[in-house]
Amino acid sequence: MKRIAILGSTGSIGTQALNVVRRHRDLFSVEVLCAGTNADLLAEQALEFNPNAVVIADESKYARLRDALAHTDVKVFAGESAMVDLMEMDSIDMVLAAIVGFAGLKPTLRALEQGKPVALANKETMVVAGSIVTAAAQRHRAPILPVDSEHSAIFQCLVGEGSEVDKILLTASGGPFRGRSREELAQVTLAQTLNHPNWSMGRKVTIDSATLMNKGLEVIEAKWLFGVPAENIEVLVHPQSVVHSMVQFRDGSIKAQLGVPTMETPIQYAFTFPDRVESHLPRLDFHHYASLTFEQPDRKTFRCLDLAYRAIACGGNMPCIMNAANEVAVQRFIDGSIGFLDIADFVEHSMESAAFIPNPTLEDLFQTDKTVRQQ
Ligand code: NDP
Repeated sequence: MKRIAILGSTGSIGTQALNVVRRHRDLFSVEVLCAGTNADLLAEQALEFNPNAVVIADESKYARLRDALAHTDVKVFAGESAMVDLMEMDSIDMVLAAIVGFAGLKPTLRALEQGKPVALANKETMVVAGSIVTAAAQRHRAPILPVDSEHSAIFQCLVGEGSEVDKILLTASGGPFRGRSREELAQVTLAQTLNHPNWSMGRKVTIDSATLMNKGLEVIEAKWLFGVPAENIEVLVHPQSVVHSMVQFRDGSIKAQLGVPTMETPIQYAFTFPDRVESHLPRLDFHHYASLTFEQPDRKTFRCLDLAYRAIACGGNMPCIMNAANEVAVQRFIDGSIGFLDIADFVEHSMESAAFIPNPTLEDLFQTDKTVRQQ
């Protein structure tokens, strides 16, 4: 029985992870549940899964959560530091990092520092602090199991391979605006942007998918997870989202991982690796696909992808600057105060104006994130 702590249990990944647990009660139990603000759903989840403890980051929701769980023996905490400290519990066997954004960094890092295996969905952690996070994982012998479908695919292609990778072929759906011109994008609404053709995800990652920033973040995540330089990571638009990514080896052979687009498969694989267990999810039926297609991304229209390549080439705190600016820009777009095309301009402006630090410490990264958000 693997006892799992879920960071971000009320989100898209968190709720799908609980579906996996629900289907495999003999394999998994829930030890800790953490959420941002949704006290009602967190309480509901706690009543169903009976964890040892729950944490709500938003301290103003503490009383509501405590009252909802008053008749249980679930321990109730609030605030970011409680969430980070709980990662030290001996009874946690694995942590699922599924908080969105920079907020996921601290608890994920603490879990790794405790030697806990981390199933990683929160890509921003790797983008912002890839060198620090991977060094901590190595130092404390804490495995990082990718959950992002592309990175899970690459990970699966690499199982059993000893030789160097020639290149990674990272697939992208292209999002809802594939094929659109800049003129058309100037007018798009939030509702259109949230209407992803293949995936149902949280708002931030859905908007990142539409701008292709998501693919940029994933290039950086792949670089750190698999030790492959960004110039050997090629993005391929594959609108059917069936080939989740591919790896080309030095002899020219290419391995791919395929499946229906659902996050429950990579979540379950991260939980059970190196084993595979039964899944009742729909099987991929090739008869449903007349063709599987691949094309180059339109990097002139969707500029965020090149901004991410630029950030990783600069190194230092540049990916952190880019990430902070993008988180703010996405929130502004949600609020309606900037347009879709402004997101890339906003990010580029921050990358050109924020103070560059070539070898940042963790403290420098927290300061960078704070300063860029203020600016
Ligand atoms: P959601 O927005 O659906 O969920 C985010 C979760 O994080 C919620 O549980 C939210 O709590 C919690 N949260 C937000 N801020 C804080 C905070 N400060 N402290 C504690 N918890 C917080 O996001 P997704 O599930 O879509 O994405 C999560 C991560 O996984 C992202 O990094 C994303 O890029 C990555 N990912 C997601 C995929 C998907 O299919 N959804 C696919 C691949 C990667 P609450 O709602 O209670 O406020």
